[in-house]
Amino acid sequence: MRYNKKSVENIDVAQKKALVRCDFNVPQDANGVITADKRIVESLPTLKYLLDRGAAVIACSHLGRPKGQFNPKYSLAPVAERLADLLGKPVVFANDVVGEDAKAKANALRPGEIMLLENVRFHAEEEKNDSGFAKQLAEMADFFVNDAFGTAHRAHASTAGVADHLPAVCGFLIQKEIGIMGRALENPKRPFLAVLGGVKVSDKIGVINSLIEKCDTILIGGAMAYTFKKACGRPIGTSKCEEDKLELAKDLMLAALGKGVRFLLPSDQLVSDHFGPDAKPVAVRDIPDDMMGMDIGPETAERYADEIKRAGTVVWNGPMGVFEFPDFAEGTQTVARALSKADAVSILGGGDSAAAAEKFGFADRMDHVSTGGGASLEFLEGLELPGIACLADK
Ligand code: AMP
Repeated sequence: MRYNKKSVENIDVAQKKALVRCDFNVPQDANGVITADKRIVESLPTLKYLLDRGAAVIACSHLGRPKGQFNPKYSLAPVAERLADLLGKPVVFANDVVGEDAKAKANALRPGEIMLLENVRFHAEEEKNDSGFAKQLAEMADFFVNDAFGTAHRAHASTAGVADHLPAVCGFLIQKEIGIMGRALENPKRPFLAVLGGVKVSDKIGVINSLIEKCDTILIGGAMAYTFKKACGRPIGTSKCEEDKLELAKDLMLAALGKGVRFLLPSDQLVSDHFGPDAKPVAVRDIPDDMMGMDIGPETAERYADEIKRAGTVVWNGPMGVFEFPDFAEGTQTVARALSKADAVSILGGGDSAAAAEKFGFADRMDHVSTGGGASLEFLEGLELPGIACLADK
């Protein structure tokens, strides 16, 4: 995939209408009140840039999974209100997506004004990337800006389809994602280290395969480590393990060996006799038959922190243990702390590692925290992301 994409800064935006795909998929409580507006805040630089330069902005997004039906529970109306507060200017809200109301309001929009369309997933055509629906969206605007990295791995009408009908560029959020992560993949500062955790080897085969081609060292933690340990003939007690992935785990370790990539597994762990917030941690080297691994042990955490200290680039995806339980959060916390202090270019895949860094207060000290979980994994796998591939090259 090419990472050198045109952005809003590379085109003439004044007096034009921009269709901007944002990620406004915000968490809400049972009454529909927005509980975290980080995603709206993150969209502001691109929106303000366009508005300040005299573009009229037609923003769009999905919210939740309304499955192709109009459903007030998933309305973007609360987002329009919060966006207006944050921008300090009115946001015109359309009650539909490509219907009469949206078209009339888009038509009347003047330079420097902004409107928000209703949830694009109220139409089943969105996720089917229906070309007629994409064309209707596109007809409201003069150019398309994709700034929703979290959905860039999906070929939907509002993330990719519209680019068949309009000149297409990226916003500042996507520009940052592909700038930092693209550079890390193409020309990493070495040693290039990957820290991988979480539950399933099967979710991360693609990324491990691709990182074996690029990294100098791979550190494994989380429940995933026990599948690898079992594949090496080590005792894992009652730890989580993907029995059907043992051969694959062996193949991945052999591939790393063949490429001269160091592939490190935990040498000690915190175990407990059951899974739960009341579980008591015990530090062991070999896991007893009736115990399960819940976190990397203190020796491993220090070893991993030391590797991070000496790295040039670090990509981290997946927690080192069950960080949601305070007694098993130390491994993840040690890795996050080491990364926050390291000279290395530090990149966090979204999802749980980003949530953990945020929870422990280290997120601000990373070079890059990806806004997309699945999208960042696919990006690091070297896959082509439709929402990025469709944008104009520089
Ligand atoms: P993933 O979505 O694959 O990145 O996995 C994240 C989840 O892995 C988190 O909810 C952690 O609690 C969980 N996890 C990490 N280590 C372990 C472990 N040793 N046993 C069970 N779950 C774990």
